[in-house]
Amino acid sequence: MKEKDLVINAGSSSLKFSLYEMPEEYEIVSGIVERIGEEGSICTLKVKGQKISRIKEIKNHTEAVEVMLEELIANHIIKDVKEIAKIGHRVLHGGEIYSDSVVIDETVLDDIYKLTPLGPLHHPGEIAGILAMKKVLPDAVEVAVFDTAFHQTMPMKNYMYPVPYSWYKENGVRKYGFHGTSHKYITETMKKHFNKDDVNLIICHLGSGASISCISNGVCIDTTMGLTPLDGLMMGTRSGAIDPSIIEYVSKARNKSLEEVTSDLNKQSGFKGMTTKNDFRDVSTLAANGDKNAVLALLMFKKSIVKYIAEYYFELNGNLDGLVFTAGIGENSRELREDIVELISKPMNVKIDPEIHNRVSRLKSYNNGVISSNDSSFEVLVVPTNEEVMIVRDTYQVGNKVKEDKVYRK
Ligand code: ADP
Repeated sequence: MKEKDLVINAGSSSLKFSLYEMPEEYEIVSGIVERIGEEGSICTLKVKGQKISRIKEIKNHTEAVEVMLEELIANHIIKDVKEIAKIGHRVLHGGEIYSDSVVIDETVLDDIYKLTPLGPLHHPGEIAGILAMKKVLPDAVEVAVFDTAFHQTMPMKNYMYPVPYSWYKENGVRKYGFHGTSHKYITETMKKHFNKDDVNLIICHLGSGASISCISNGVCIDTTMGLTPLDGLMMGTRSGAIDPSIIEYVSKARNKSLEEVTSDLNKQSGFKGMTTKNDFRDVSTLAANGDKNAVLALLMFKKSIVKYIAEYYFELNGNLDGLVFTAGIGENSRELREDIVELISKPMNVKIDPEIHNRVSRLKSYNNGVISSNDSSFEVLVVPTNEEVMIVRDTYQVGNKVKEDKVYRK
């Protein structure tokens, strides 16, 4: 029987999961338990495009895991929970401790607890997910896949802020970067595409949350998100980089606490702040109908993308193999890709081939491939990201390595 590994992405009141056959990375099922600890809890499985839902009172994460496993058995996806060999957990923050995925033991769990101040909204749910799985499946290997880990290769000049040094030494104030699982997946895919390990890339992960990373010789040397995901690009509801003095100024001018201003910058800014809509498609529709703020918001979004592409292009000294567009907006918005490449076309000597772009963009299932012209100085590509696959791949590899090490030590 093929090995089955589970991916868990636990939030404070939800638990997303997908089950894979490994090492083929074949997704057997995915699903979500929602409204944990609230009224109307529901578990939904998605099998071969079909949704199967069960409404049941689910008080906590342990019950959520139990219901998820019951549903997998009831729908004949597994016969016994013991069929699940390894579990990969998405964990937001690995701080400076974790530059790769690791098998979760007492020390790792303790570190994730200690890193909670850096991921206060995410870590409590993620820890609950890990503990719930441990309780229900004590013998399975559990792996933590950190969203920050891939960016740990950044050099100090790129991750330090010019603030009192003690803030870094004593409080860990530095750039960590996020979406690492997606940037890693794209980097691995591009290593295969260019058939070499030392790829130089600029990866634009443009979804509701958005970040760009700069990959030199196959490793990340810079990224746009910082201590938290608030920094860098303008996003669906986040401001991205702004003058930090705005926080105190607005706090006084509008009689808001620091927490309220920070929450506004995370949840009421970006596209939402400018247009009341956070979804890129809605903003594009507004702009097409002549809404001035929506037109402006799109110009600002593109400007922020071009700013970082230019910075990273210089950081790579112009030696770029590929500029990659990925995630919801990057994969689906042909117009945005065209506009961005148009804006960098002259200084970077790159063009989209309209016919190829047409072909790549026409089929929803085929948003994948090179879209630049043959005479461009580097390739522009659309590559669908797959964070779940990256998590399960790491889980399989790290879990097996630990098993091999144990055999070796014996
Ligand atoms: P997240 O995972 O951060 O929630 P996604 O990667 O799913 O984000 O991206 C969501 C964004 O992608 C939304 O702003 C949405 O409008 C945009 N998007 C999705 N489909 C399309 C499309 N066909 N054309 C343009 N934008 C799209």
